[in-house]
Amino acid sequence: MIDAIISQDLETIKNAVTSDALAEKKVLVTGGAGFIGSWLCDVLIGFGNEVTVIDDLSTGRIKNIDHLTENSKFKLIKSDVCRFKTADKFEIILHMAGHASPDEYQQHPIETLRTSAKGTENMAEIARKNDALLLFASTSEVYGDAEVVPTPESYWGKVNPIGPRSCYDEGKRFAEALLMAYGKQYGLNVRAPRIFNSYGPRLREDGLYGRAMSRFILQAQTNQPITIYGDGKQTRSFCYITDTVTGLLLLTKSKEAKCEVVNIGNSQEKTILELANKIKELTKSKSPVTFCALPKDDPKRRCPNTDKLEKLVGWKPNVTFEDGLKRTIKWFAQK
Ligand code: UDP
Repeated sequence: MIDAIISQDLETIKNAVTSDALAEKKVLVTGGAGFIGSWLCDVLIGFGNEVTVIDDLSTGRIKNIDHLTENSKFKLIKSDVCRFKTADKFEIILHMAGHASPDEYQQHPIETLRTSAKGTENMAEIARKNDALLLFASTSEVYGDAEVVPTPESYWGKVNPIGPRSCYDEGKRFAEALLMAYGKQYGLNVRAPRIFNSYGPRLREDGLYGRAMSRFILQAQTNQPITIYGDGKQTRSFCYITDTVTGLLLLTKSKEAKCEVVNIGNSQEKTILELANKIKELTKSKSPVTFCALPKDDPKRRCPNTDKLEKLVGWKPNVTFEDGLKRTIKWFAQK
């Protein structure tokens, strides 16, 4: 079952993307049971595509795609993205599989690196055999602790190659380099959106998987202490899921995006303290705010320059910080 908030949001995405060039295709979505992957599956099935999901359910959740499993155009294969083999034909591969939560991926650094490295190589080979388009979910983390903010794609990044976040950052950087090499050497039709802190319904809130946004909402709604790491002056720029998925699908459709890396995010930069206080206000919570140790190498500022995406596909974010938060809070409250 899809609830009213997600249904409305899916309509918003479908109206913004439109199905031309994205209908009746055979699409492979890795990480399709995850947060962003499951939204992509909903839109693609809505457009009449045949969708195959590969997910080992290590971080994704079956409940995100439960409602699709009865659909004859939808197939779930429980498999590790590094080992998946297939004789099926695909025209589009959306490679979304990965560990995204810092607390979780730092507990599984080798798996995190493998998914980005071997998983991406495996997908590139499948794409090559099928002459398919391959879109890879890259990240703002390729910029590390950026010194240029708002950050354009031309900035090379400031990443600690052996720090606690390197399994994620360097894994994604390797995957980008690999894709560009496949593009150059084999002419593969690749593209790598760099996603900045996407949020909305289905973002995991539990345990190590929780992100600041979803954790704070849960903590506020249950009047538990809101756990800010450090002094809360570090910034992030939060992009509502409808804007993220619209950007991803417009980039999938764009011929000009071939072999490009492109930022997707909302440039409304907020401190983590502002995020906590806004969530407290909107939930009318009595939660105290507590300050915990700041994890090593936590980026101080993160905000995208999205001129390239706007120029390529005419995309601009439509959902403000306050509106996106209200929708997300409402969704978590009724869950
Ligand atoms: N953070 C926090 N409390 C938490 C979880 C995260 O203050 O319980 C901070 C984290 O240190 C980072 C920011 O919030 O500075 C955003 O965290 P998120 O989980 O979204 O991951 P990131 O953006 O760092 O990848």
